[in-house]
Amino acid sequence: MSIQRPRSEQLYAEALEHIVGGVNSPSRSFKAVGGGAPVFMKRAQGAHFWDVDDHRYIDYLCAYGPIITGHAHPHITEAITCAAANGTLYGTPTEFEILLARMLKEAIPSMDKVRFVNSGTEAVMTTIRVARAYTKRSKIIKFAGCYHGHSDLVLVAAGSGPSTLGIPDSAGVPGSIASEVITVPFNDLDGLRVALETFGNDVAAVMVEPIVGNFGMVMPKPGFLEGLCKMAREAGALVIYDEVISAFRFHYGSAQTYSAFSDHAAIEPDLTALGKIIGGGLPIGAYGGRKQVMDQVAPLGPAYQAGTMAGNPASISAGIACLEVLREPGVYERMDAQAARLADALQASADKNGIPLTINRIRGSFSAHFCDHPVTNYDEAQDTDGERFGQFFRLMLDQGICLAPSKYEAWFLTTAHTDEDIDATIAAAENAFAAMVR
Ligand code: PMP
Repeated sequence: MSIQRPRSEQLYAEALEHIVGGVNSPSRSFKAVGGGAPVFMKRAQGAHFWDVDDHRYIDYLCAYGPIITGHAHPHITEAITCAAANGTLYGTPTEFEILLARMLKEAIPSMDKVRFVNSGTEAVMTTIRVARAYTKRSKIIKFAGCYHGHSDLVLVAAGSGPSTLGIPDSAGVPGSIASEVITVPFNDLDGLRVALETFGNDVAAVMVEPIVGNFGMVMPKPGFLEGLCKMAREAGALVIYDEVISAFRFHYGSAQTYSAFSDHAAIEPDLTALGKIIGGGLPIGAYGGRKQVMDQVAPLGPAYQAGTMAGNPASISAGIACLEVLREPGVYERMDAQAARLADALQASADKNGIPLTINRIRGSFSAHFCDHPVTNYDEAQDTDGERFGQFFRLMLDQGICLAPSKYEAWFLTTAHTDEDIDATIAAAENAFAAMVR
């Protein structure tokens, strides 16, 4: 079944000469799925990719989340073209920024004020600075396996328990910085309680992906977010939601306003970090929150944050256009129904072939874990069969189905996936599971 990609092989060899590791983000390498050349794509339209060897793929990677209306959506393309024709960067305020800020505030009412930046990493990094400025405390509690970008403070792994400080997860992050971070298992309120009892007076913020997208898709257990917010507040710490993946992914709004949670007031954060979808496929990030907290930010307050490219007309216009598409009635319902059909068929096919598979689906996205137990935290996500995933990934790729090359990443549906795309994906998965047991 294996197909040849000579041009990708050749370009990868060339890329290795000039670009570190041949890729501009490590998640693009095939290291986690057995190595070799990643596929070089040359064009994307709707739910499809074409590689440099002219193979077509159905895309479920969706650029790790931002692509929700399919590639090159005409409304977004028009917005970008129009912005480009009027000049891509001014270094002055523009009216468009107000419009996107308003749209975000309407959809996520906990944000009284917003600031645009260029990436999710920047957004998260700055929420931490603002929380520290506001509370005049330094420590951060985060949850194991939640990814918050590549800034120093959040590249920290768990110590040996919730009452221990973190250790750097990356070379180049000083131990002194890691010691400002405490890592607790996701969905573990007892762990959070111990961490807050031990370090409570020093904790500036508890940071979490309210619906996790980084060790598969994982919902918080009932009461987890309520308990987290209550405990953080009792300790005088702020709550930061990293909604870089989750905002506008499941409905027109964010996790904090999602209907799966009944008491929205009880789970409201002080600060929210955004990115991905809100830029419609161009670089963007944003953060926002309660007025008193956001007033810490320069030029109003003492917490400094700036950006030459921030709020550039192209990203902002693409973001507005993307949200306009998502605001149309029925958009999320359709992605939900297609993802349900696909996930159910994957599960049935894996079951039929005796392959243990746990699918966590949240509306139009899901993760498929090769294991026979639930996945509710990072330990459980790690305890899944990476080799099997690698085999499945390649069998799917060779049949024209593009997944993220990591067992921890989600499958994303878009408004552009058709019933035929879903049928073709189900057929490919049936072949892949059958081949895996042969
Ligand atoms: N937070 C979350 C939850 C993310 O998933 C990511 C990226 N995958 C980031 C932050 C960092 O965003 P960026 O890659 O745009 O810097």
